[in-house]
Amino acid sequence: MTLNDLKEGQQAMILKVRGRGAFRHRIIEMGFVRGQMVTVLRSAPLKDPVEFRILDSEISLRRAEAALIEVMVCTPEEASKYRELQPGHVACLHPHEDPQAAPLEREIDSHSVIEVCMVGNPNTGKTSLYNALSGAFEHVGNYSGVTVDTKTIEFTYKGHKIRLTDLPGTYSLSPYSPEEKLVMAYLLEHKPDVLVNVVDASNLERNLYMTTQLIDMDYRGVMALNMYDELQASGAVLDMDRLGLLIGMPIVPTVGRSKKGVDALLDKIIEVNEDRDKTVRHVHIPYAEEVENSLRQLQEEIWKDPWYDQIYSSRYLAIKLLEGDAGWVEESHVLEHLEDLQTMAENEGIRLQKLFGEDVDQVFADYRYAFVRGALREAYKPAAKAASSARQDAEDAKEGKAVAVASSRRRVTEKLDRILTHRIWGFPIFLAFLWVMFQATFTIGQYPMDWIDAGVAWLAGWLDSVLPDNIFRAVFVDGIVQGAGGVLVFLPNILILFFFVSIMESTGYMARVAFIMDKLMHTIGLHGKSFIPMIIGFGCNVPAIMATRTIESRKDRLITMLIIPFMSCSARLPVYVLLAGLFFPKHAGTVIFLLYLFGILVSILSALLFRHTILKAFDSPFVMEMPPYRWPTWRSVGRSLWVRGKQYLKKIGGIILIASIIVWALGYFPVGPEAPAGVEVTPEMQAQLDKTHLEQSYLSRIGRFIEPVIRPLGMNWEMGVCLLAGISAKEVVVSTMVMIMDPASSFTSATALSFLVFVLLYFPCIGVFSTVARESGSWRWAVFMAVYTTAVAWIVSFIVFQVGTLLW
Ligand code: GDP
Ligand code: MG
Repeated sequence: MTLNDLKEGQQAMILKVRGRGAFRHRIIEMGFVRGQMVTVLRSAPLKDPVEFRILDSEISLRRAEAALIEVMVCTPEEASKYRELQPGHVACLHPHEDPQAAPLEREIDSHSVIEVCMVGNPNTGKTSLYNALSGAFEHVGNYSGVTVDTKTIEFTYKGHKIRLTDLPGTYSLSPYSPEEKLVMAYLLEHKPDVLVNVVDASNLERNLYMTTQLIDMDYRGVMALNMYDELQASGAVLDMDRLGLLIGMPIVPTVGRSKKGVDALLDKIIEVNEDRDKTVRHVHIPYAEEVENSLRQLQEEIWKDPWYDQIYSSRYLAIKLLEGDAGWVEESHVLEHLEDLQTMAENEGIRLQKLFGEDVDQVFADYRYAFVRGALREAYKPAAKAASSARQDAEDAKEGKAVAVASSRRRVTEKLDRILTHRIWGFPIFLAFLWVMFQATFTIGQYPMDWIDAGVAWLAGWLDSVLPDNIFRAVFVDGIVQGAGGVLVFLPNILILFFFVSIMESTGYMARVAFIMDKLMHTIGLHGKSFIPMIIGFGCNVPAIMATRTIESRKDRLITMLIIPFMSCSARLPVYVLLAGLFFPKHAGTVIFLLYLFGILVSILSALLFRHTILKAFDSPFVMEMPPYRWPTWRSVGRSLWVRGKQYLKKIGGIILIASIIVWALGYFPVGPEAPAGVEVTPEMQAQLDKTHLEQSYLSRIGRFIEPVIRPLGMNWEMGVCLLAGISAKEVVVSTMVMIMDPASSFTSATALSFLVFVLLYFPCIGVFSTVARESGSWRWAVFMAVYTTAVAWIVSFIVFQVGTLLW
C-alpha cells in the first residue's frame, strides 16, 4: 500500500521510498525514511495535493508523489518497536516468538527486501553469477539466448533480504526483439533498487555500450566485471576505480563460474542500496551540442508535468522521445502533454537528421560509443600495450606468460573452428556427433535400464504376492507399478541424451551448429539462429519453443515454433528404445539416429511450405555471436542432469501416473467374465479370460472406434489407444503399451516402423500445445500445429507402412 491509499486521519509507517534522483533525496531529507510514522492531515479541495504530518512538520505531496512511498498502517507503538530492531535484522523476530506481531513482521519483511536485477549482454555470465549469488540452479550455456525468461529468487545475506532477478541478455535497451522489450519493460515497471550490470571483461567496448543506456536511465547500479579470469589471462589491465568514476558505478571483479568475487559483489550491492558508496553518481553521457539543445527543450516541456520526472529521468525520456522509442510512455498514459512532446520530438528529430545526415538513433549510438572509447582510453590498457610495457619491466615476466596463454586460447578457438565449422567437414562432424549421441544413448543406457527394469519387475511380483487379490492390487500393480514403472526404466537414456545436449551447450558448439546450419536454414528463409531452439527441442519441445523468443521477426519466430514439434524430444525416446530394441536390435542406435534426422528433414520441409504459403516474408538479417570455446564446468553439467532427472521423476509421479491410472481403469471396467466357480484356472485359461476382459472394456470400445482411421497405417486398436493416451505426454505411449499389449507379438517390422514414425511426428503433447498457444499469443496457431502435425504423421506413416509391407 502507498501513502496515496491512506484516508484522512490515518496513520502509517513508512516502509520504502521509490522514485529517484532529486525527488528521492528531498523526500528522505524531509524524514520520509523507513520506520517513520506519517499521518494524513487533509487533501486539497481538488483532492490533490495532500498534506501529511511527519516529524512534527507538515508537508504537502502530490498524489503521484505519495504513490511512490510504500507504507503500512500501524500504531506508533508498533512502529517504535520496529525501529528498535537493528536495520537488516527485522527477520530475526520470528513469528512464533511474538504471535501478535507476526502479520506486521511479514508485511515489513516484504518491503525491506532489496530488489536487485542482473542486466547485460548475452553470454556474459549473468546466470552463472545469479546462481553463485543465490545458490539457484538456473540453466547456463555458452551461447547467447540461454535465458529467455525472468527468474527471481529471494535469499538472505548478512541479515539483508535480497530479491534477485535474472533477465535475458540483450545488446542494448532499444526494444527490437521480444527479449529487449521484456528487459526494458521489467526495468521501467519494477524500478529495482540496485542494478547489477554484468559485463564481459574480455569484450568491454561492446558491453559498455549497453551500460551507457543504463546510465541514461539513471538507476543506481554496480558493475560486475565478470570473466575477470579471462581479462587477467589476456594480460590487459583495467583501472577499475577510474572507470567506475567515469561511469558513476562501482566496479567489482568477478568470476561467475568459480564464484570468485561473489561476496564482494553482495557487499557492494548493499552499500549502494544504503547510499553509502561514493562512486555512485548520475553521469550525463555527453551528446552533440545540437542534440543537447533538443534534449533541453524537450526536458523543459516534460518539467511542466513535474512529477513525471520523479519516476523516470526527464533526460532519459527526452532521449527516448528523440530516438522515437518511447512507446511505453503512451501505454502508461501518465503524461499530460504527451502529444505536444511527440510533435516536438518529431520536429527536433527531423532537424537533427538534416544536420547530421543520419538517423537520430544513429547519432546517439555514435556518441555513446565515443563515450565508451573515451572512458576505455583512460582506464584500459589492452594486452599488447600492457605486455610491451611489462616486458620493459624486467620483474614482470609473468605478464608476458599470461599473454602467451591468452593468445594460445584464442588460437585454440580458431583452430577448432577451422575444423568444426569447415565448409565441407563441418556437416559430417555434426552428423557424427549426433550419431555418437544416439548410439551412446541406446547402448550405454542399456545396462542401467536393465537393472531398473529388473527392479520394477521384482517389485511388481513382490506386490502381487503380498497384497490380497482385489481391485487395489490390480490398480497398484497393473496400473501404477507397470505403467509408471515402465517409463521410469528410460531415465538413464534420457540422462545420457541430456548429457550430450548439455555438452553442446556449455562448450559453445551449439553456436557453431547454428552457424553451419545457417546456409541450409537460409534456403528455407530462416536464420541459423532458429536452429538452436530446434536442437534444444531434442531435449524437450517446451523450452525450445520458449527459446524462439530470441528471434526478432515474428513470422520467423512462428515458423520456428511450428516446426519444433518435429524435433524429436526425449519423451519420445522410450518408444524408440523399446521398439527399435525389439525389432532392429542390431541397429537400434542407427534407427534412432535416423528418426531424429527424419524429424529435422520434415521440419525443414514444413518450414519451406509455411514460408511459401501462410507466412511469407523476406529473410531477416541477423548477426550471430560466436562465443569462444569453453570447458564445461562439471557443476553446470551436473546441475543440468540433476534438474532434468528431477523433472522426469516429477513427470512420472504426476501426469504419467494419472494417465496410467486412467488407462488402467478404462481397460479394467466393466469387470469382465469370471472363471466358473470350482474350476482350476490354468495359465492359458487366465490369459484367455484377461483377453476377453480387455476386449470388452471401455478402452477397447474407444480403440475400436478409432481403429478404422489407423488401419491403413497397419495399426490395431491397442496401438491406437497408446497413441491416444500419448497426447497427455509421449512417455504414456510406452506405459500404456506395457499395460495393454505385448509389443513383441503385436508388431511386425513394418508396423513398428510406421508406429515409430507416427510417434515422432504426431501431436506432441498438451504441454507443447499450451506453450505454442501462449507464445504465439493465439489458440489458433496451437490448433493449427496440432492438426498439421497429426496430418503429416498420418500421411508419412501410411507411406512407410505400405512401402515396408512391400519390402518385408
Ligand atoms: P548469461 O548468458 O549472461 O546468463 O551467461 P551464462 O551464465 O549462461 O554463462 C555463459 C558462459 O560463460 C558459460 O559457458 C559459463 O560457464 C561461462 N562463464 C560465466 N562466468 C565466467 C567467468 O567468470 N569466467 C569464465 N572464463 N567463464 C565464465
Ligand atoms: Mg543467462
